[in-house]
Amino acid sequence: TPSIRPLVAGNWKMNGLAASAAEFRAILAGYDASLAGAIDLAVFPPATLLAAFATAAAETGVIVGGQDCHAAASGAHTGDISAEMLADAGAGAVIVGHSERRTDHDETDADVCAKALAARRAGLIAVICIGETLDERDRGVTLDVVGRQLTGSLPVGATAANVVVAYEPVWAIGTGRTPTAEDVATVHAFIRDRLVHRFGAEGEVIRILYGGSVKPGNAAELMAIPHVDGALVGGASLKAADFLGIAGAY
Ligand code: PEP
Repeated sequence: TPSIRPLVAGNWKMNGLAASAAEFRAILAGYDASLAGAIDLAVFPPATLLAAFATAAAETGVIVGGQDCHAAASGAHTGDISAEMLADAGAGAVIVGHSERRTDHDETDADVCAKALAARRAGLIAVICIGETLDERDRGVTLDVVGRQLTGSLPVGATAANVVVAYEPVWAIGTGRTPTAEDVATVHAFIRDRLVHRFGAEGEVIRILYGGSVKPGNAAELMAIPHVDGALVGGASLKAADFLGIAGAY
């Protein structure tokens, strides 16, 4: 199997004020001290902090990104932010299709795909989120759901340079619950299969992150699972010590 440089990504969601810059600087320092040789690190702060964090992260190798983008480059869309605007503010990536966006803003796979294409147009990596609900897991349709989301949300011509897939079981997000290692292994192997089937050799090297209640205490076990090429971390990314602890589990 080809070697893939892991990516540990922190999604700050709707958390963080100007004073949070100190926590972010601690993340930058920790990355520089011991992680930069081994893994990629990304932080997705709220849009209000993006430009300041991008300036702070310049030359460090740490990627700063947006949490969502509009599919259009500009226009009459009050309150929205385009991929071009994120790039202009210093972003190198953007999360699209997070389950909270799918739920709170009724985003469909087609919407997510359009946003991923917008990210590529602007030169951003799209971190495309997929994952089943607890009801879907209980009904035994996890792979059907994940397969459908993959097909619908990933744009044509996806490459390892412009797309990262994040598998996040909705019931594991912010709940402290995680799937068993066997369940994670099954879904990640399935995603890898589908990526290779659709994108050929490029599908072998597109990173597949696991997300959902990743903590310093469970990161090593999750990261050791085949085809888990990193983590998307919510709550635990807000504290530099926890986030660096997770990143150091690689
Ligand atoms: C997320 O929402 O992307 C996430 C993984 O959250 P948490 O780590 O808090 O479960």
